Amino acid sequence: MAQRGRVLALSRAGNPGAQAARVRWLAATLFLGPLFVVVWLLLPHGQIASLPGLIAMAGSAFSLGIALVMFPAERVSDTALKGSLFATTAVISAGIVAGGESGSAFALFYVWAVPYAFAYFGARDGIIHTAWVAACFAATLAIQRHSGVAGFKHPAISWVMVVGTLVVVGTLVRELTRWGRESDARFRRGFDDSEVPMTLVGLDGAALDVNAALCRMLDRRPEEIVGRLVAKSVHGDDVASNQSAFRRIVSSDAVHETFDTRLVRSDGSIVTVSATASVVRDEHENAQYFFVQLQDVTAERRAVEELRRRGLQQQAIARLGQMALNERDADAFMQHLSETVAVTLGVERSSILVLDEFAEEFTVAAGVGWPDGIVGILRTAASEASPAGVALRSRTQVVIDDVRGDGRFDVPQIVHDLGIRSGVAAVVDGQVTPFGVLVVYSSQLRNFDADDVAFVQAAANVLSSAADRRRSDDANRFAALHDPLTGLANRTLALDRLEQALARRRREGTTVAVLVLDLDRFKIINDSLGHDVGDELLLQLAPRLCEAVRPTDTVARLGGDEFLVVCDAITTPREAMLVAERLAAAVAEPLRLQSGEHFLSASIGLAVSTVASDTPETLVRDADAAMYRAKDGGRGRYEVFDDGMRRQVLSRLRVETELRRAIGRGDLRVHYQPIIDVLTGLPQCVEALVRWEHEDRGLLAPAEFIAVAEETGLITRLGRFVLEIATAQVAAWQQTFGPLELCVNVSGRQLTNPQFPDEVAEVVRQSGMLPGTLGLEITESVLIEEATSSARILTALQDRGLRLLLDDFGTGYSSLSYLKRFPLDALKLDRSFVEGLGDQPGDTAIVEAIMRMARAVNMAVVAEGVETEAQLKLLRALGCGRAQGYLFAAPMPAAEFGAYLASRRRAAVA
Ligand code: C2E
Ligand code: CA
Ligand code: CA
Repeated sequence: MAQRGRVLALSRAGNPGAQAARVRWLAATLFLGPLFVVVWLLLPHGQIASLPGLIAMAGSAFSLGIALVMFPAERVSDTALKGSLFATTAVISAGIVAGGESGSAFALFYVWAVPYAFAYFGARDGIIHTAWVAACFAATLAIQRHSGVAGFKHPAISWVMVVGTLVVVGTLVRELTRWGRESDARFRRGFDDSEVPMTLVGLDGAALDVNAALCRMLDRRPEEIVGRLVAKSVHGDDVASNQSAFRRIVSSDAVHETFDTRLVRSDGSIVTVSATASVVRDEHENAQYFFVQLQDVTAERRAVEELRRRGLQQQAIARLGQMALNERDADAFMQHLSETVAVTLGVERSSILVLDEFAEEFTVAAGVGWPDGIVGILRTAASEASPAGVALRSRTQVVIDDVRGDGRFDVPQIVHDLGIRSGVAAVVDGQVTPFGVLVVYSSQLRNFDADDVAFVQAAANVLSSAADRRRSDDANRFAALHDPLTGLANRTLALDRLEQALARRRREGTTVAVLVLDLDRFKIINDSLGHDVGDELLLQLAPRLCEAVRPTDTVARLGGDEFLVVCDAITTPREAMLVAERLAAAVAEPLRLQSGEHFLSASIGLAVSTVASDTPETLVRDADAAMYRAKDGGRGRYEVFDDGMRRQVLSRLRVETELRRAIGRGDLRVHYQPIIDVLTGLPQCVEALVRWEHEDRGLLAPAEFIAVAEETGLITRLGRFVLEIATAQVAAWQQTFGPLELCVNVSGRQLTNPQFPDEVAEVVRQSGMLPGTLGLEITESVLIEEATSSARILTALQDRGLRLLLDDFGTGYSSLSYLKRFPLDALKLDRSFVEGLGDQPGDTAIVEAIMRMARAVNMAVVAEGVETEAQLKLLRALGCGRAQGYLFAAPMPAAEFGAYLASRRRAAVA
């Protein structure tokens, strides 16, 4: 009740400064009055009615004054003040009585009390007090007369004079104070009606007053605040900083100080306010109390906080995007992403659920905040009713603010078990099918706002584009490692798998088998039926080959009609042979195309790793060698690489290195063998034949190294060397001995070079040979294998004035009518036919037929390997134009050949 009274008093008086002044004035009156009494006692005065009474009266006035001064002025209630004033009047009355006759002058003291009431309590209180004074004075007069104390001669007149004076002075004072009161009231109204929450706070930290706006803001009644420490309404964490702010204002010259603080409303919710506090000082610059204005900045601060959060989220997304570009390890990236999302959102858990389309299941591929045995392990059904399932199917987000209160979904039990209360699931979409779902989980009921949800989705999108990129990377990788036609592995991948298999072999002691499979005569199919049919055959064959081996084995297409099979972990060589047989059977099955049924066969070479030093390259090389053996052995069969082959392979390797060095060092020689006019017996042409002057093994014939030179590509340099030496040599002989033709052997490899015709023409030009005297010898197999490109290049050669000869004719399979499509000038009848001439009637017949056909297509014929006069005679009889062989001369070095030419010329002349 006392509290309330004080509140009301304050509310009406408005200003604690005014209240303090009121108290001080009354106290001053209470000191000053008795002081005058004491002075009066010391001076000569009339008869005193009662000295002790007068002293008691002065004493009680002093005490009253001291009591007022002792009590904190601004907290003295109106009631107390009014009570003091009434008591003062009573004390004055007692003083008049005790002062005796002359004491009636004490009545003047009333003049101090009444205006006071008017000044500080308003008209009503002034009138009440005047009435109280009038009553007291009337009583005083009555007491004086009754006790016979000499008083006023006419008490009624005295009474009227005193009371009248009081009314006049009081009214005057009332009018004078009205102005002050009004400004006070204006302050009061400004304070009370202001929309700005305000409070007055005492130096001790207690609220002296609050306005309605503040009460509304805190949702409290004034009496719940006023008189209590303001700290009670302040958020615990802010009390200390507030107090120091108040202390700063008092101690510094700063007019005011503004600071943020959180206040607690009646329902416990928090209001963030910006407080501007200023100190109110009295005329002596002493701090009196604080005036505090507040502004609700909750929304503002929340907006700033929101902005900050959004900034953090955007940064996080940008960083994740950056990382997605650089991070090669998909799992590490997913883990990092799930961590970043959880931390940025301030939730305890997150997970990335990757969809297994076929099993309709999610795998928890990454995540934070989970107990062991979940991330990377747990699989859950991608059910249509689960939040993640819905996000996946709707391809958007699912937001759950309260898991328990949300009946829409079928939430996995683990979510309840872990006390998860809310969450967001966002689809990680893919170009074709969704990749999975990104989920964040909170243990608190939480309102995920639009920004939070957008953030989760943005992170999911980063993951989705990373996954898409990875998928297309995978597609690129696939393309880089697979044969575009059949989709089988290519050489690179097969060698890589073989390498891995060999590494395992070394660890586990298993055996690796490599099979090289080459289709027989596939080129003929391609040439005769077209590439489309060839491709279709390969396409049908590829899956059959895969079915013939175990799923863990690798079937690769090396190009053309060549396949490589890598069999991992074979236990016995026999097992590998069974694989070869199964592959052969798979090829032998007829292939049905629209063009009809086709029958294929394959030559298969098998190599099994036996030593730890085996490398993918050596194994494939061995299998390759075995495959050639199978082809040589009659095709449609398989060969196992053995030690004999190994030795051969090794010697080939040695030849290769040595030949490479020999070419560089100039260890190659050119020998010359004459080609004779069958009718005249004179040398008309010379064939250049290469030799190798080997440092250890002496002069080596081409049979020892030409094949290796062709395999390794060294043939290009070798051929060029022979061409340059021979043309220069023959040009010189032409100068000395007159017309002489030159024939140089050309390998298929050289013909694949489109620049070859121009290069040859240039060599001929530089040599100074007579035009049209150079012929190139090309073997049949070269023409058949590269039919189209060969025809083009042969025409180009012929255009440059070169003669073209078909070497070793008869060893291949083609007929002359097939060869007609090439622009050939002559054919060289293979030695094998010449050998049997005369002795073998069949051979004679064949040669006869060839001669007839050659004439029909207008080709000259050169017989090779003529060793006997009998052979020569028959050839002459059959109409063969030229012959070459030991019968005339064996190949010989240039010097010898020069001498030979000289002697033949002499013989011809003779
Ligand atoms: P080719 O083109 O058929 O050369 C003729 C081969 O028959 C030569 O063997 C020659 O010495 C041999 N020969 C000549 N007359 C007789 C004879 O009466 N009886 C027997 N039994 N053999 C005779 P050579 O020099 O060993 O050359 C072998 C093969 O090497 C050549 O066969 C040719 O295909 C190739 N060759 C030689 N030099 C070169 C070259 O510079 N470049 C290319 N690409 N191949 C060359
Ligand atoms: Ca030849
Ligand atoms: Ca030949």
